[in-house]
Amino acid sequence: MSEEQLSLFPEMKPPELEAELPLYRPFLPGVKPEEAYLEVKSLAALAGIMAGCSKCGLREGCRQVVFADGNPQARLMFVGEGPGQVEDEQGLPFVGRAGQLLNRILKAASLEREEVYITNVVKCRPPGNRLPNPDEVAACRGCLEAQIRLVKPNIIVCLGLLATRAILDGRATMATIRGKWFTRQGILLMATYHPAALLRREELKRPTWEDFKLIRDRYLEVKRGD
Ligand code: SF4
Repeated sequence: MSEEQLSLFPEMKPPELEAELPLYRPFLPGVKPEEAYLEVKSLAALAGIMAGCSKCGLREGCRQVVFADGNPQARLMFVGEGPGQVEDEQGLPFVGRAGQLLNRILKAASLEREEVYITNVVKCRPPGNRLPNPDEVAACRGCLEAQIRLVKPNIIVCLGLLATRAILDGRATMATIRGKWFTRQGILLMATYHPAALLRREELKRPTWEDFKLIRDRYLEVKRGD
């Protein structure tokens, strides 16, 4: 995905974009309680419910719902934008080329993929790997919020602009928001570039690595405090 595509809906004029912003509203105040799966008490139960979800049109065009991967009690959670073709085939997030790059970055930061939790803003593959639209993000938001409630991560890393806008700041730009810590509901959050962007733009690797060093250091602090 190019940086141009990462600038969400650049074709929208400001008033129209403004009108769309509530659908990308940040993590707080969140979805309505009845849309947040509050009655669901385990990730396994939530995964089962989501496997049968058809709340938005993305389900029609994909093979399966890609729920998550990793440690269900992780201190550190990564959220990308949506499954791609390989993820759709395998039923796991971040297993294609971008996922392999994420694995290498994690290893370089002395983090094991198995100890973190990895998911996406939308759980079904958008056709042609397009960005999910605001309605689709809104439809899938309750699942992400339920995952956050059930995993209880100390740190959430938003990978790419869509995740950043959906979770952290509906008006964010990567250049201004990445590499900084934010706190929402007691959870530390940071935005950094999506690994897919690094595959296309070599110059994004260094700032992303700087972000990951901050993430690793804070994660180790959290673990030491256990
Ligand atoms: S993207 Fe999310 S809301 Fe839409 S059908 Fe898939 S699981 Fe349901």
